Amino acid sequence: MFVDIHSHIDSEEFNSDRDSIVKKCNIIIVDAGINYENDLKVLEIAGRYTNVIPAVGLHPENINYDNPRKEIDSVISLIEKAEIISEIGLDYYWIKDEEKRKIQKKVLEELLSIAEKENKPAVIHVRGGLRDFLEIIESFKVRFDVHAYEGSVKNAMKIIELGGYLSFPPIIVRDKQRQIIALNVPKERILTETDSPFLGSTRDRNEPCNVKTTLETLSTLWKIDIKDIEEIIFQNFRRFLKKTFQ
Ligand SMILES: [Zn+2]
Repeated sequence: MFVDIHSHIDSEEFNSDRDSIVKKCNIIIVDAGINYENDLKVLEIAGRYTNVIPAVGLHPENINYDNPRKEIDSVISLIEKAEIISEIGLDYYWIKDEEKRKIQKKVLEELLSIAEKENKPAVIHVRGGLRDFLEIIESFKVRFDVHAYEGSVKNAMKIIELGGYLSFPPIIVRDKQRQIIALNVPKERILTETDSPFLGSTRDRNEPCNVKTTLETLSTLWKIDIKDIEEIIFQNFRRFLKKTFQ
């Protein structure tokens, strides 16, 4: 079975054909929420499908920076309804303001402490704030996946040492840096994702079944049959979801 650990299948780009997209291939889809309102939508849509797992989160770009407290509490109230906390993290690429970055860090720490307490894994968005993220994650015993990781091999290995996973979107097919990382990190710490409808390998709308492109690329890189890689990724996902930290 394919695994898409990070998608936004709830987004309006899928309104016209979501049913057929969700059922098109044999796949588990994790649908990530980006703020309270969207988390509610994710929970509603995931409830319609047996192969869609809801994730509740507060994306760093979607924090209400004028009054973050109320929204954080609302998001936290939904976490018990989700198996995964996502998407959360740091975005210093779009958010340059130091005060806002401080708020991002606080929100991340608070949601990671809930992940630790509730023993739920977290899928992380980190763009430009990797050094701060590594410093923060070190203090939490949480299973985590850095989605669409785009840093160095050295930092990828740091994530692995801290117990983390890395997920690769289909764009890996033409991204040399991600291919080098896939060759250097342990296979048991790799997951597949799409970030649908974003991050496709072409300009078209990306969709969950396109994780096949990631699997094909890993198959070429690792010289392992695609069926075996599908099984490796599936087992990695089961370990990621598991209720005890290791
Ligand atoms: Zn995303």
